[in-house]
Amino acid sequence: MFFGKKGSLIDMLPKVEGSYVEDVPMSDLTWFGVGGPAEVLYRPNDELDLQRFLIGKPYNVHVTLVGVGSNLLVRDGGIPGVVIRLGPPFASVRVDGDLIHCGAACLDTKIAKVALREGLGGFEFLGGIPGTIGGAIKMNAGSFSREIKDVLVKAIIIDGSGNRYELDADELRLAYRSSLIPNDWIITSAILRGYKEDPAIIKKKMNDYKEKRETAQPLKAKTAGSTFKNPEGLQAWKLIERAGCRGLRVGGAMISEKHCNFIVNVGDATANDIETLGEEVRRRVKEATSIDLEWEVRRIGVKTEKDSSFGGRY
Ligand SMILES: Cc1cc2nc3c(=O)[nH]c(=O)nc-3n(C[C@H](O)[C@H](O)[C@H](O)COP(=O)(O)OP(=O)(O)OC[C@H]3O[C@@H](n4cnc5c(N)ncnc54)[C@H](O)[C@@H]3O)c2cc1C
Repeated sequence: MFFGKKGSLIDMLPKVEGSYVEDVPMSDLTWFGVGGPAEVLYRPNDELDLQRFLIGKPYNVHVTLVGVGSNLLVRDGGIPGVVIRLGPPFASVRVDGDLIHCGAACLDTKIAKVALREGLGGFEFLGGIPGTIGGAIKMNAGSFSREIKDVLVKAIIIDGSGNRYELDADELRLAYRSSLIPNDWIITSAILRGYKEDPAIIKKKMNDYKEKRETAQPLKAKTAGSTFKNPEGLQAWKLIERAGCRGLRVGGAMISEKHCNFIVNVGDATANDIETLGEEVRRRVKEATSIDLEWEVRRIGVKTEKDSSFGGRY
């Protein structure tokens, strides 16, 4: 699609043991259910396969990493180059005392369940976050006053040139919904630390959190969770409400009636509807409160020519 001649990008890529698939709709790989195709989707077989790919790929082929797409808005023109998605070979979990060794593709919810089974406290907050451990580290995901930063001991990372590093948590500079992990670094696994806890106490905490989420958030909707970061000392949803944006719509995208920091795809939204709505909310909040909201949802890929006044961009 992007190179004109079908198959031409795969022909330029190194031989791998994992799989290459062309023209994969990103709408199938993201929670919003929108977005154009990945030019090529690569699923590595293991770390070595990934390293060989990174060393062997032409330097000008752009690489984009995705987890399970629960914090992503992929634009309608899709993603040129190679999209990497780690799958089952990167989803193992092993418990050793108070440590959990896990692959980066392991779901946060699975870690919460394993921790409950093993009587390890500290992971309850992961029970309601629908991403992977890799995505959680990159975003420093958190809820109910806990963040992945509080449990992360080490992350194993492959950089854009294929070099492998084992880094201590503090080297990643995790902060509120952010990290200093460059976009071309791929987290392949992690070591997390919990503490011994009575499973009944863990279970109760998880149930409380679940109930609170179900009451406050549109969990069954096509969404990417909180759209904007909370400005220091403030709550984004309150600013959005104050600016009169609850229920605001652009095409098939809507500010949730239940939680106004959530944008929901009410059926037929395009990525452009969602992004336009988000920008309109930012404009109205700025006008009403003088505060600039910062996107928490990561917007990637290119716009279609129709939607873009400046040509596509990442
Ligand atoms: C209903 C709902 C509720 C949510 N609630 C919360 C919440 O309470 N707290 C919260 O923090 N978030 C929440 N989120 C947002 C989202 O789940 C988190 O940001 C999550 O950590 C994203 O993980 P992912 O695997 O889906 O990553 P993606 O959305 O696929 O990617 C997000 C970013 O992480 C990068 N990334 C993914 N995997 C890796 C890897 N292996 N190595 C390096 N970079 C990687 C991507 O390149 C991208 O930049 C919610 C989302 C939804 C839909």
